[in-house]
Amino acid sequence: MQITIVGAGLSGAVAGRTLAEAGHRVTIHDGRPHVAGNCHTERCPDTGVMVHLYGPHIFHTSDAEVWDYVNAFTRFRPYRHQVKTTVQGAVYAMPIGLHTINQFFGRTFRPDEARQYIEEHEADRSITDPQNFEEQALRFVGPRLYQAFFKGYTEKQWGLPPSSLPASILKRLPLRFDYNDNYFAHDFQGMPEHGYTPMVQAILDHPNIDVHLKSEVGADQVARGDHLIWTGALDGYFGARLGRLGYRTLDFERFTATGDWQGCAVMNYGDPDVPWTRITEHKHFAPWETHEGSVLYREVSRACGADDIPYYPIRLVDEMAMLQGYQALADAEEGVTFLGRLGTYAYMDMDVTIRAALDAARGLVDRFGQA
Ligand code: UDP
Repeated sequence: MQITIVGAGLSGAVAGRTLAEAGHRVTIHDGRPHVAGNCHTERCPDTGVMVHLYGPHIFHTSDAEVWDYVNAFTRFRPYRHQVKTTVQGAVYAMPIGLHTINQFFGRTFRPDEARQYIEEHEADRSITDPQNFEEQALRFVGPRLYQAFFKGYTEKQWGLPPSSLPASILKRLPLRFDYNDNYFAHDFQGMPEHGYTPMVQAILDHPNIDVHLKSEVGADQVARGDHLIWTGALDGYFGARLGRLGYRTLDFERFTATGDWQGCAVMNYGDPDVPWTRITEHKHFAPWETHEGSVLYREVSRACGADDIPYYPIRLVDEMAMLQGYQALADAEEGVTFLGRLGTYAYMDMDVTIRAALDAARGLVDRFGQA
């Protein structure tokens, strides 16, 4: 079979590789001059620091097969993600754990004491079934922690009142009653030694795969072959005929420094009067390397225009209704598989993206058979 894939990010690469290994011919188009989509990394020519050009990507998963999969294409180095946040004139650890609770309330609670204090004195127990981000936060941490750590950051990140956002966004973050300050709770976590782009290049390095970069093809122009895998925007495929699905985009304000500018990879800024949500210092994403220079980015989130890069699917009630319309169109589309964060309009992490691409491509191999 001849398979065409639009998009050389993780979804396109993993699906393409699976089909290529089954003997199918795969042609991949991507409008950008590089593979790896938004997890693209490159070395800064001035400082030598490995830079995550479209924002930091930390690989974390509890899916052992996905972990083995990525490790087969590149060497991963141990990396443990820790995040600090600056709010109300102090620096705290995120996500909220025992250190942050004790520091914020000026207490010396042990785990059970902290749990009891939050539940009895902070949490809003009148909320029995949280319906949105704000209710979820008020129910679990109460108004004071919510105001300090979540409200301002979330309004900046999403441009909306947290009462209009789904509770699922907050559920990405744990609330802990110990001193574990690992941002993630997954079994496996690491960084590719040479960045994500060589990893994706290695996935694509197969005699049955042809990659065409700077090759912007719309749904109407692409030569589809026997099957098309579309990892571009779902609404874009259908010419936005039901309307535009909402995304947030990011502006990155780059600056350089010498030495260690902020002492950690990610510093969040929860206060509403600071325009950026966070500052990332990329040398800390490769702690095994040493560089005198440093590259940092302030991240400012805003509504995504037609010419901007979409990052975060908003998935509000309006978008979810529109999404169902597009999903119905996608289901009715013969010979096309929609994949990835853009192709399915889902807030997916890298491991989930890989899992979905593996499963979908294996399904196609079952359907088409080995070539
Ligand atoms: N969040 C927050 N304060 C923080 C960090 C996160 O309010 O200091 C909220 C924010 O709404 C964010 C959500 O928690 O969108 C999920 O955070 P996560 O770190 O998973 O976001 P991502 O990795 O997608 O940027």
